[in-house]
Amino acid sequence: MGVIKVPLPPQDTNVFQAAWGYITTILKGLFVTKMILVKQLFKLEKTETIEWPEEPADYGPRFKGKHFLTKRDDGNVRCTACFLCATACPADCIYIEAGEHKSKTIEKYPVRFEIDILRCVFCGFCEEACPVDAIRLGPEYIMLPADGTKWVYTKEYLVARTSLNGGIQSIKDEEEKHPEVTSLTHESKHHHSLVKHGKH
Ligand code: SF4
Ligand code: SF4
Repeated sequence: MGVIKVPLPPQDTNVFQAAWGYITTILKGLFVTKMILVKQLFKLEKTETIEWPEEPADYGPRFKGKHFLTKRDDGNVRCTACFLCATACPADCIYIEAGEHKSKTIEKYPVRFEIDILRCVFCGFCEEACPVDAIRLGPEYIMLPADGTKWVYTKEYLVARTSLNGGIQSIKDEEEKHPEVTSLTHESKHHHSLVKHGKH
């Protein structure tokens, strides 16, 4: 294989010509910026700058903001204190204390559920890990907690702060809890029966 010869960059021998090139380029850039400013001042062009906090910011539907906990049909918290979200959390900022539920059909519920929001990195892993749609990251972007909570969101705050308008209902009911596990069990039963009958 031959050697590729790369030519050296042209040398600027004339310093005045080089300086002129720089000056005219800077002036062109300033002119473009000024024209945008003038157009936006006279409302001839839409500006992307918003006057927050007077004007609310409008984030996209996939924005992952302030967390909230969903509710069951009966108004109780949907969380079953399974600890999957706390285990998945890379910032180790979810604290759960589980208690026995008074209903026979529900094993546990969170007596305490807290998120240290100053440690959170808003990765959304907690939402992804939850099998019952009990925790979500909503569209709110102002992270101030309730008065006196020192940046720790309590269960009460996560379920029923004023902005949630009485709370958000989970989209997964009791029967929908672990559909993947049910289908997996069915498949593994089928697999075992094939092995038993020498078909595999
Ligand atoms: S968004 Fe990420 S860092 Fe924040 S609580 Fe959930 S899992 Fe933890
Ligand atoms: S929020 Fe979901 S993942 Fe976290 S403990 Fe409750 S049920 Fe489990």
